[in-house]
Amino acid sequence: MIIDIHRHILDRGYFSDNYWRGFARMALPILRRMGVQADVDMIINDILPVYYDTTGEKHLAAMEEAGIDMTVLFAFDTGLMVGEPEIGIEQQNMAVFKIAARYPKKVIPFATMDPRRPNAGDFVKKSVQEWGARGLKLHPGSGFNPESRETLGLVEAVAGYGIPILFHTGPSVPPTSSKYCDPMYLDGILLRFPEVNVIAAHMGYGYRDILFSLGINRPNLYTDIAAWQTTARDRRHDFNDAVGHAVAHFGPERVLFGTDNPYLWPVLPEPQYVQAVRDLAVTAPEQTRITQQDVQMILGDNAAGLLKL
Ligand SMILES: [Zn+2]
Repeated sequence: MIIDIHRHILDRGYFSDNYWRGFARMALPILRRMGVQADVDMIINDILPVYYDTTGEKHLAAMEEAGIDMTVLFAFDTGLMVGEPEIGIEQQNMAVFKIAARYPKKVIPFATMDPRRPNAGDFVKKSVQEWGARGLKLHPGSGFNPESRETLGLVEAVAGYGIPILFHTGPSVPPTSSKYCDPMYLDGILLRFPEVNVIAAHMGYGYRDILFSLGINRPNLYTDIAAWQTTARDRRHDFNDAVGHAVAHFGPERVLFGTDNPYLWPVLPEPQYVQAVRDLAVTAPEQTRITQQDVQMILGDNAAGLLKL
């Protein structure tokens, strides 16, 4: 069983122009390095629309090709930070729930909302109780502190449901902000809510030493390997080393497979990313050995347990 713990729903109207322009400016040098000649407007008008998928069809096709059985899917609430999008965050969540209702054996919906929104607690509770959300995704890149009163209140609102909370960690896409994406800000939640399982996304990227050292000390902290495809493609040794150290610090039972797609589709096809993880049983460095069984746990068994599938 392979489960992707980290996947986004995307459409032009889900973000303000301000967000898209910041995103495109970040993508520009990356595309140039890949030999793609583009400018900011071309990225927004011609390249990004390829990744829009509000029905789930593109995601399901990509999963099928890679043998990924199930995926977690969620939106990203940037409105308070970079301007409200044309399609509001409630509607974006509803689009996720609709896809999951249509493909209940494939898509696991997570709710998301900026904790500073006055209706966040009510909306998220309703998402779990009425619309089938199986987890919560929060992105502090929108400018909220995970240790703030609002965030702790939102965590408290869902703590009784036994669902995991996935937090973005590591530097954030411009024009969203990186400061509160430092995993150290999760410590308040981890200590105050020891029964709530928290997933720090992306192995913390550049904050991973902090995250990995926290991982040893906080048994309710997990991490995912989403968006490491560039490293897996270009610097395989670094990828093997990073996942090997994640396993050494968290134990194989608290490391989860994820893609962050559709964002990484142009970087590495999903079958190759799954294969990179399978290969870890052979290629992980000797001092951070990963077994076949560990690979199976990372690819899906851990997520199945966490999501009570
Ligand atoms: Zn993501």
